[in-house]
Amino acid sequence: MNDGEMINRIGGKRFIGEDGNKKTSTGNLVFISIFCLSVILNFYFIFFQGKGEKPAEEDKTVLREKAKEEAPAQASSPGSKAATLSTAMEGGFIDVDFPALGKKQVKRLAFTINSSLSQTLCAAISKEDGCEILTAYMSRLLNWKLPGYSDMRNGDKIGLLIEGPKLEDDNNNILALNFQGSKAQGFETFYYKGPKWKYGSYFSEDGVEIFLRFRDEEAPIKDFSEITSLVGDFRGKRKGHSGVDFKAEVGSPVYSPFEGRVLRVNWNFKFNGDCIEIDHPREGTMAVYLHLSKVDVKPGQVVKAGQKIAESGNTGRSFAPHLHYELKDRNDQDKILNPFKFKFHNTYYKKIPADELSSFREHVEKVRQLMN
Ligand SMILES: [Zn+2]
Repeated sequence: MNDGEMINRIGGKRFIGEDGNKKTSTGNLVFISIFCLSVILNFYFIFFQGKGEKPAEEDKTVLREKAKEEAPAQASSPGSKAATLSTAMEGGFIDVDFPALGKKQVKRLAFTINSSLSQTLCAAISKEDGCEILTAYMSRLLNWKLPGYSDMRNGDKIGLLIEGPKLEDDNNNILALNFQGSKAQGFETFYYKGPKWKYGSYFSEDGVEIFLRFRDEEAPIKDFSEITSLVGDFRGKRKGHSGVDFKAEVGSPVYSPFEGRVLRVNWNFKFNGDCIEIDHPREGTMAVYLHLSKVDVKPGQVVKAGQKIAESGNTGRSFAPHLHYELKDRNDQDKILNPFKFKFHNTYYKKIPADELSSFREHVEKVRQLMN
């Protein structure tokens, strides 16, 4: 799948009638609802909760425009009828001591997709209890396994084990998720944190992480807690998010994945904060790094592959510490590349180390008992 296709699937152009294809399926309606919701939620978080990121100079008007365009579309979509919750655990949170994660208050939710993900979920838990936060978080997980949700259908089932009692945007609220689809393949994912790990993550039952990672030698950042946004997020009729956002503590080292020459630093501070742009002729790309706390390079400077060039931060229009990493086509700077599909970036799925597998399996069993 090339970058254009990736963006199309996330943004769903062909599902909102721009290509003249009038045929509407249940899956499309589910997709439209979820997409609209994600736009609205992202907008909400960015502007009202201050947890997200204001996009850089290139896409600063997109969110406002998108909110105007998409909000009525959801209300008038024939798929937006109120959803009903098929099953849910009665009562509140229960205390569970997980050997791997410690004591948690958890609750199981199980529901059948019916129109939008948010309507379905918010029928189970209230807005005050964090249904919107949970929907946004769940979308981030689902998007890796069901890109663009194009294969999701009404009637598909989702089970969650959530941590409470209060859902907060900064935590890993979802301890486990399982999905059973009629078209898309079913999957389960479990939040797990090894004893010596700085950050936990999500793994399939065989201990393989559900997200892709860059190989360390070519990673712009090695120490991050989560990928919070991909290329194409917020996307609709116009271009959407132009990079990958890595949630990371201020001061995390940032590296140049490739050899290149620094073109400019710290332009348009209001939006970009401290920032760097580097030209990489050999790879045919230009890389952009935004919201930095420290810049170690100067325009004209040649950098080596793997050289530290900066530290991540929270400067410019950014409301939570993160690195925005962006790749553009060197010959057509309007063309944004998806770093996870870029041929010079080698990617892999992280695996739980062999000596921790038995503890992980024990954890999975415990979680499954709670979810059934
Ligand atoms: Zn970003």
